[in-house]
Amino acid sequence: MPAVKVLGSGREVGRAGILVESGGRGILLDYGVSFDEMDRPLFPGHVRPRDLDGVVLTHSHLDHVGAAPALFISVSPKLLATPLTLDVSRLMLYDLIKLNGPFLPFDEQTVDDMLSVAEAVGYGEEVEAGQFTVKLLYNGHIPGSAAALVEVDGRRILYTSDFNNIETKLMEPAKLKGVKTDVVIAESTYGDTNHPPRRETEERFYKAVREVVEAGGSVLVPAFSVSRGQEIMALLAEKGFEYPVWYDGMVRQVADLYAAHPSYVKDADLLRKALSEYRMVNGWSDRKKALKEPGVIIASSGTLKGGPSLYYFKRMASDPKNAVFLVSFQPPGTQGRTLLEEGVIQESQQPVKARVEWFDFSSHTDQSGVLEVLKGLNGVEKVILVHGEYDAQLALADRIKEELDVEVEIPENGATVEV
Ligand SMILES: [Zn+2]
Ligand SMILES: [Zn+2]
Repeated sequence: MPAVKVLGSGREVGRAGILVESGGRGILLDYGVSFDEMDRPLFPGHVRPRDLDGVVLTHSHLDHVGAAPALFISVSPKLLATPLTLDVSRLMLYDLIKLNGPFLPFDEQTVDDMLSVAEAVGYGEEVEAGQFTVKLLYNGHIPGSAAALVEVDGRRILYTSDFNNIETKLMEPAKLKGVKTDVVIAESTYGDTNHPPRRETEERFYKAVREVVEAGGSVLVPAFSVSRGQEIMALLAEKGFEYPVWYDGMVRQVADLYAAHPSYVKDADLLRKALSEYRMVNGWSDRKKALKEPGVIIASSGTLKGGPSLYYFKRMASDPKNAVFLVSFQPPGTQGRTLLEEGVIQESQQPVKARVEWFDFSSHTDQSGVLEVLKGLNGVEKVILVHGEYDAQLALADRIKEELDVEVEIPENGATVEV
């Protein structure tokens, strides 16, 4: 009988690492990092790379790929991911090494070695890795992302990874309806909440942006360079927003990769339109130009923890004409969170006069979304919740047990569940 060992993302959000084992061999689903208070990377539990028949990377967020190169130092297990995930992962891993190199057991060469043995897999293709069969399925989280369906010993195990089942400007809803599986390993990031309808958030955001710009101000949108930044660009392009839009940081490189893999983006033409009409910041003179005229500036990081968004913030925050619109989840301890809760940031205690607002553009599903996806599957006996805070997981487990006749487990890191 196979077993699932949770190496990371047990009762926590981040550093995913899910090992499916049978007969002493394993297939590893994701191997990511989290960051401690000092911003140093934290790894999932250890696994012996030579015991692995394969590694699946479900998407390019660092909490899913950040530790993966460590598995490719002495041996080369089979590596499976969509072509877009492989390309964006290279950028993300290089950036991780730039910021955290001394704390990592690998370098750029290891990343290149890992990617050189990778097998690019499209949605729905069946791939063998030792005794395991793997299929990647569209899961709606970010461009290139996938759920993984693993079959071993006649048992089917579906790992949703981070998923979303609503339509956004970049993604279709997850396509998991009707999938036959005995066990589901599901994310539970928003296990105890529901998001407002995306359409409403998009309209509210766009209306607010227009108000600020038409009154002569500028809007700073701190955004993650993977997916969220491009989604905001696509939203403004679709609305035909006629004022200057600047984008700064890795947003551009990732957008170029999305445009190069158009089948992984809902509307690649919209993204191309945004790329051709909006202006990329190329160095300091552009940053000054961007600040001179009313418009929108999209810049990483998404939580004001550093990067160009912090630079713009310091220059924009004291003017009441301007606005800072946060569009990502702001974890406790980040400057973005302090800004929302206390109206200042740690780094400069000067009063913030700009309009500050948060918009719920989540790429994760919510409580009702998890229930909807589970109900759409076929033959589920057991649900294993990962990638969530324990309170949210407990709330979600209660709802699942109310609505479906299945067992629910919430394993800690290091725990093994028979499947
Ligand atoms: Zn993710
Ligand atoms: Zn994640």
